[in-house]
Amino acid sequence: MNNFAYVRPNDVDSALALIRSRPKARFLAGGTNLLDLWKMGVEQPQTVIDISRLGLTDIAARPDGTGLRIGALARNSDVAGHPLVVSQYPVLSRALLSGASPQLRNAATMGGNLMQRTRCPYFYDPAFPSCNKRNPGSGCGALNGYNRNHAILGHSDQCIATNPSDMNVALAALEAQIRVIGPDGERVIPMGEFHRLPEDHPELDTTLQPNELITAIDLPPMADTKHAVYLKVRDRSLYAFALVSVAACLAIENGVIGSARIALGGVAHKPWRVPEAEALMRGVTPDRSICERVADRLLQGAYAYRYNRFKLTLAHRSIVRALTVAAAAS
Ligand code: SF4
Repeated sequence: MNNFAYVRPNDVDSALALIRSRPKARFLAGGTNLLDLWKMGVEQPQTVIDISRLGLTDIAARPDGTGLRIGALARNSDVAGHPLVVSQYPVLSRALLSGASPQLRNAATMGGNLMQRTRCPYFYDPAFPSCNKRNPGSGCGALNGYNRNHAILGHSDQCIATNPSDMNVALAALEAQIRVIGPDGERVIPMGEFHRLPEDHPELDTTLQPNELITAIDLPPMADTKHAVYLKVRDRSLYAFALVSVAACLAIENGVIGSARIALGGVAHKPWRVPEAEALMRGVTPDRSICERVADRLLQGAYAYRYNRFKLTLAHRSIVRALTVAAAAS
């Protein structure tokens, strides 16, 4: 049993003052990940700052009238069903609805989903002694252990974990911007720079600084909403994390691709994008051969371990499938 203080500020300034002044403090939003980690003993906060009274739940056009701004405390289910999201960002709605269960989506927030930690079993269970993410310098139990759900891209010998979120994959393809506030004021982090690869510091999942709070997610306008797909492959059809997922957003005019934004989930420590692969699609008429070439380029350098070799083929086929379906949509 670890004793802790519970506080519930009414505004952002108070929340920031609390996180600055209390050691080992954690923000609590929907609690769908923090409480699990806490019960397992992975997290042991001394102060829990309940941010549920901060507002930050609006979903509306950005102040300049373009795109969309989604409050960090908007619930996943509210965002997935919001008319502006369904009509303008269907790939985000589909990704959210493919994650977790209805009960969890009703509780989970957008900011919390961004901060969701890996589901690597060696990380979740402190009975396993080796996990560099949980205990830096202790080794990686998954390297020579059961690594079926682990990364094939961007990993290091320090950590081969994957980011478990569906939402993050869609946000990467949509080139979302994450608005945060901290002691030095507000800043905006491009989605591609929000999550990080493990390198030598797998204990760090994101580039968010310790005393910063996520306030909103901005989405730029989408030129073409028709040719957007979120494909998730998993062991069962509900309540399972992705083995591989693909968010593909194509802009097609007169049968020719103007732009392609493709993000992969379930394969790396962060949503995986390769600009050179996307550039291959620009200015071409979509067919199977270009989809195959894009898949080859997206997976260039992929390396699998004992139990996740199947992901190499699965990821390739999933990319080709998602691009084919996105291109054919009408
Ligand atoms: Fe820990 Fe990462 Fe290794 Fe899993 S893959 S045991 S999270 S260091």
